[in-house]
Amino acid sequence: MNIRSLRLRLTLWYTCALVLVAFALAGASRWALAVSLDHALDQSLRYRLIGVHSFIDENSHDGLAGITLKLRELDHLGELFQVFGPHGEVVAQSDGLARHHVSTEMPPDPGPGLLFRNAGPPWFPVRMATQRIYVDGLTLTIEVADPRRKFEGVLREFYSALCLALPLVLTMAAFGGYWLSSRALGPVDRIIDEARAIAPSNLAARLSVPASGDELQRLSETLNQLLTRVEQSVQQVRRFTADASHELRTPMTLIYTAAEFALRRERSVDELKESLGKILREAKRCTELINQLLRLAQWDAGSNRIDLVSSDVAALVGDVVNELRLLAVEKGLEVTTSFPESSMWAAVDEVSFRRMLLILLDNAIKYTAGGGRIVVRVTEDEAEMAIAVTDNGPGIPSEDLPFIFDRFWRADKVRSRDAGGTGLGLAIAREIAERHGARLTVESVVGHGTTFTVRLRRGFQKDLRLVGDAAKQNEINV
Ligand code: ADP
Repeated sequence: MNIRSLRLRLTLWYTCALVLVAFALAGASRWALAVSLDHALDQSLRYRLIGVHSFIDENSHDGLAGITLKLRELDHLGELFQVFGPHGEVVAQSDGLARHHVSTEMPPDPGPGLLFRNAGPPWFPVRMATQRIYVDGLTLTIEVADPRRKFEGVLREFYSALCLALPLVLTMAAFGGYWLSSRALGPVDRIIDEARAIAPSNLAARLSVPASGDELQRLSETLNQLLTRVEQSVQQVRRFTADASHELRTPMTLIYTAAEFALRRERSVDELKESLGKILREAKRCTELINQLLRLAQWDAGSNRIDLVSSDVAALVGDVVNELRLLAVEKGLEVTTSFPESSMWAAVDEVSFRRMLLILLDNAIKYTAGGGRIVVRVTEDEAEMAIAVTDNGPGIPSEDLPFIFDRFWRADKVRSRDAGGTGLGLAIAREIAERHGARLTVESVVGHGTTFTVRLRRGFQKDLRLVGDAAKQNEINV
């Protein structure tokens, strides 16, 4: 038996609580019984006091000595009493009390009413009722007593009954508690068994959900949701690995083929140069792909920090446009820009922000046919700063738009590959945007063109603009 098991611990807690409650209840019942017995005793003492009082009243005509004499008769009747004179001296004590050496000291002042108290030596405990009476100008204190022993017997019997019954009841309750907690925790064992049976090979399996509406239902549902998330991310990793191997296989095959072609027989210098050129191009593509994969893997692992510093975004965009302008011009594209007059400061990680802009502009150049037009616009309003890259290229079909930010997704694999694409650009761009707290969105109409827009919240920038150049030294982890 597992002594740390929940059902055993529950049973122990439950039994401990029950023992405490049972003992408290036993104590309280004993106290209540004793009080109620004392009450019954007091009631009978009250009547007996009245009797003794009347007896003294009736026999008071011969003074204190006469009363003492008459009280002997009462003693013979077995009454337990004692009477004290005006100065506290014992006038009479019944034989029953004297025999047990009950104290003959003057009792405490009962005042105008009656006084009930426990008295007597330990071997003869009695309940006493005391009253002050006035008889023929004499002040007497009379006391009647009743042995408590008979009631203590009742209490003892009550106690022994409790001592017998309690362990029995507690043992039964403990077994009952164990059975109940076993029943209540039964579904947990089932969840454990089902969860153990789920391996990486059958991640699609789910736990059965009891329709009990309790915590166990919620636990099963939560674990199932967790499994769904795990399954999704495992599938994502598997897809990513398969896509990555597939993407790497093509350039590797081309390199292999080009090298084999060059080595198969004697080649002219030009032929060799052409083969080496092909090998170089594909090696470059491999390197680029591996770099991108590495970057994404680092981000996935959460290890890649980006360091936000206060930067002039307009100037940054201008730099990137100038960098790619030649490429666009070579392809016969017209690139126009539209920036506000003033600088536009924002907190960005320059290296990755520049990479994101390069991806967007490079795509616009890649996918727009010669003679086309690309517009890069930077605007600012109350809430946001927006950088929009618009081209009048082929556009992206609306059914493809939800997928274009997925890793390795490409509308046209061949065209993308011919243009040097890897299918990872937009996934990286979105990741960078999110790491800046920005949004990267796309609008596209087939045949008319595409616009990618990056929106940065101004509040986000302002906070960092406050620290100004000092922020350049600060590394902010996002
Ligand atoms: P790639 O390396 O293939 O360009 P991206 O992730 O950058 O990968 O883009 C994914 C796909 O989105 C591209 O293959 C292309 O089909 C489409 N795409 C991206 N930008 C544009 C654009 N400006 N115009 C038309 N299609 C685009």
